[in-house]
Amino acid sequence: MSTSEFLVRLRHISSLFVSLLFIFFISTISTLSVALASSLARDSLTVEYDITVHIDPVAQTIEGHNIISTKSTHELILALSSRFKVRNILIDGIILEQLSMEHGMMQTWRIPDSQGVPRRIEVYWEGKLLPLNTSLNHRQTLNRGEPVSGEFGTFLPDSSGWYPHIVGELASYRVSLKMPHGQRGIVAGKIIKESNSSEGYHALFEFPFPSEGIDFMGGPYTVETDSMYGIGGKKIQLRTYFHPEIKELAHDYINAVKKYIQLYESWIGAYPFSEFSVISSPTPTGFGMPTLTYLGINVLQLPFIRSTSLGHEVLHNWWGNGVYPYYPGGNWSEGLTTFMADYAYKERIGPEAAKEMRLSWLRDYITLSSDQDFALEKFTTRTHGASKIIGYNKAAMIFLMLRDLLGNENFDRALRLFWKQNQFRIASWLDLQRAFEAESGKELQRFFEQWLTYAGAPSVRIAKAVRTSSEFGYDVTVTLEQVGSSYNLHVPVAIHTKEAIEIKTFNLNQEKQTFSLELPNKPIKVTLDPDFRLFRKLTPDEAPPILRQIMVNQDTKTILLSGKGEEREIAEGLAGKLLRRTPEIAVLADISKVTSVLVIGLQDQVRRWLNLNNLPPRPINMSRDGTAHAWTIRQDGVTFIVVSAKDASSLYTLVRPLPHYGRQSYVVFDGAKVIERGTWPAHVQEVILN
Ligand SMILES: [Zn+2]
Repeated sequence: MSTSEFLVRLRHISSLFVSLLFIFFISTISTLSVALASSLARDSLTVEYDITVHIDPVAQTIEGHNIISTKSTHELILALSSRFKVRNILIDGIILEQLSMEHGMMQTWRIPDSQGVPRRIEVYWEGKLLPLNTSLNHRQTLNRGEPVSGEFGTFLPDSSGWYPHIVGELASYRVSLKMPHGQRGIVAGKIIKESNSSEGYHALFEFPFPSEGIDFMGGPYTVETDSMYGIGGKKIQLRTYFHPEIKELAHDYINAVKKYIQLYESWIGAYPFSEFSVISSPTPTGFGMPTLTYLGINVLQLPFIRSTSLGHEVLHNWWGNGVYPYYPGGNWSEGLTTFMADYAYKERIGPEAAKEMRLSWLRDYITLSSDQDFALEKFTTRTHGASKIIGYNKAAMIFLMLRDLLGNENFDRALRLFWKQNQFRIASWLDLQRAFEAESGKELQRFFEQWLTYAGAPSVRIAKAVRTSSEFGYDVTVTLEQVGSSYNLHVPVAIHTKEAIEIKTFNLNQEKQTFSLELPNKPIKVTLDPDFRLFRKLTPDEAPPILRQIMVNQDTKTILLSGKGEEREIAEGLAGKLLRRTPEIAVLADISKVTSVLVIGLQDQVRRWLNLNNLPPRPINMSRDGTAHAWTIRQDGVTFIVVSAKDASSLYTLVRPLPHYGRQSYVVFDGAKVIERGTWPAHVQEVILN
């Protein structure tokens, strides 16, 4: 699996979002608007949990007791997974005589309005956990949202309802935990007490901040501990909870975490917690929660994780878990985290690496069909590839454009202000806008409005560029247009002279506008946004085709050059894997009517077919002779993937690896091994001045 494919699997989990969905679900039958409103109000820490729990991964049992103290006096909804048995619910010492209601995976109770008096709700519960299935992938692990347990690991996501909780309220908590000897468990928060003996493992965790929920992780962990001092002199405890087979990675992970905390403390402000832990998971999952990140054993072994995803997860302690997104207005935290982690690391490598990332975002964006595209304000959490392209990449690019507009210093000052003002609060895109306005003195209403509320992207073109001689040298007039849109854009245009390239920024706020400038040296060429700093729809030339474009296109037609037998079956199987659906097989006569074509055949068949259709032969970039080649061609508005193999067995070998190379324009295989790959160069929009 390629680097990018793996990174796509890592995500930040939002348990609040899951709770919100749950609220939405049950609000059709009960009035929960009060609970919902209070969960979204600022400073709404009115609930405290005091949980004592015994988890046995061998027997797969849980037994617990939660004392819920709340200052909220309105009606509350108490919820717990339906798979558990409740022995008793006491409200201020009095048994609640009420049958639970079933809502999907949850059982709920109404806790009546208390006429202004704070309440103490005690719940005793017990039950069986589901067996851990290590063959699940990341998506399945998350989507199931079930409490699973086994000797190799226990994962009780907040969304599984593993402990009795009040729906829609942020809560602080204490968790006192007991597990059998050889097992360790952890929840987000500070360890107050810990003991490990032949009797078993005991630990007490405290999380004094408003929390969106509690996720529990356990396993046969080897724990390494270290510490550092934050900028305010605060001691921060760093830990790894690793399965024995990867325990030698602990040191490197702890050091990497230290560096990230230092980086973001100096960039944003003090680390908000007093600990950070990296925990290994027996399933190939990956996400972050306050004070910790939970990553699959196999993910942790990938060397690039320490230099990319780990930093992203550490940064979520500021954005996401330090300031909570106001989900109904859109989740800004993934975009800001992507910008200040994934993208910032590319900038540190160099301008070319950063440009490559921007280009890949824009290239990915045009693979979206119009029904997959949506306005950024609708993004809450990542559910599929399209939501990442908008919620992470487009949002990150908006922060880049904002920084280009305001300057680095204003931008960073605004981030620090936003952090100071919103720590442990729910904040919206509007709160971000206000911080950027306050520090830059610029009015940014239009900027935020267009990028948050418009779906799609502007298509910007150089309609015309003319050079004339003037008294002082030369005049250049450039006419820019945005086809069918009305964004207010700051468009970078490069003016090339023999000696240098100068980037000018033109403020395009109409559909078509002409800009002039005077130059002492003779300009020979103008190019549009050559560094890809503007979020826009690339033209076909700017975005040379990548395999994914044809793979995700629902209109792609497939041409199989092998007529019959096993060879044809293999080709058809490969087409199905690439397109992730039953391929629509076309005959030659059909291609005049389509725009997206997948062609699969053996080398001679492919050579003949390309020739017959006046298409170029296999490009020289793919000079290496492997056993199979796949590449894209664009001609006369039609995009092709051509897959050509030496023989049927070489074709068969592609079935597993080829779908993972969607971001490439060409790939050369020797057996199942990739020996060459790449993207065709982007051709920026240019006008030669005569
Ligand atoms: Zn994230």
